[in-house]
Amino acid sequence: MRSRPTLALAVCVSVLTVCTVAAQDLGPNVHKLKDGIYVYVGNDRGNDAGPESNSGIVITEAGVVLIDSGQTPTASRAIQAAVKKLTSQPVRYLISTETHGDHHAGDFLFSPPAVFIAHEGTAATLKDREPGDPARVERLRASSPEMRAALEGYHFVLPQIEYRQKMTLNVGERTLELMYLKNAHSEADTAVWLPKERVLFSASVAVNNQFNVLRPWNDIPDILAATKMLKGLNPEVVIPGHGAPGTAKIFEDQDQFYALLVDRVGKMVQDGKSLDQIKKELRMPEYDKWSAKDRIPANIEAAFNFLAARLVFKGN
Ligand SMILES: [Zn+2]
Repeated sequence: MRSRPTLALAVCVSVLTVCTVAAQDLGPNVHKLKDGIYVYVGNDRGNDAGPESNSGIVITEAGVVLIDSGQTPTASRAIQAAVKKLTSQPVRYLISTETHGDHHAGDFLFSPPAVFIAHEGTAATLKDREPGDPARVERLRASSPEMRAALEGYHFVLPQIEYRQKMTLNVGERTLELMYLKNAHSEADTAVWLPKERVLFSASVAVNNQFNVLRPWNDIPDILAATKMLKGLNPEVVIPGHGAPGTAKIFEDQDQFYALLVDRVGKMVQDGKSLDQIKKELRMPEYDKWSAKDRIPANIEAAFNFLAARLVFKGN
């Protein structure tokens, strides 16, 4: 009778030990979101640059689905090592959430054999970039011995499957819904939604606690429509393209930022200020804690273009 509690305690301690060791082994970047669903959170590069890209690891009975392959080849190697520690299953699918290189550094580590899936237009954009800068990989190799080692076996990889608008991927017991987000961030953005687990990998339509990059084709109404659609899914966990995972509050924070930005830019336009003046004078002190402040002028320009388009529309 006496030995039972002792035995139970011994089992408990050993389970705890195993759990602790396993958690440490995965490194500081990997966090469990739900059973079998993990995120590799990109390294924080400080206030100027903001955090590196996130990747998702979804384990199923029929293999692993990887969502984005990392910001740099060394990050991609860390993701690969984490997957190997978590499961003996191979990575069967690689889903790309956007076309930018900071989400593609490790594509070559996984595909083939993983089937590489992205939205229509991804292959064309990736093909454009690599031949346009053939020295990129050489520069990376020369940057450090670790980077050189991480690039071992590098080859250029393109998606094998490009979907249009929406795609459902059933792998083992899990369902992943891929959704296109128009004009949200890159040339082809994909959110990945796991409806049973209520986990949403939102791509870079919104980033957490930082200003987003806005390019000429990014459109504030399209971004707001995308975040509205994503909020409507009622996700429990949201993993943005960059920054800490959280909840739908990430979308609400960004929506509020755009509302305030458009309001302030609108008032300055009414006061007769030019776009250059607005870029110089506009302040958003409520967002002092957000990183990547060098992106504020591009956000102002997007708000200005949005207001100009609305005026033209009203004028007609
Ligand atoms: Zn990007």
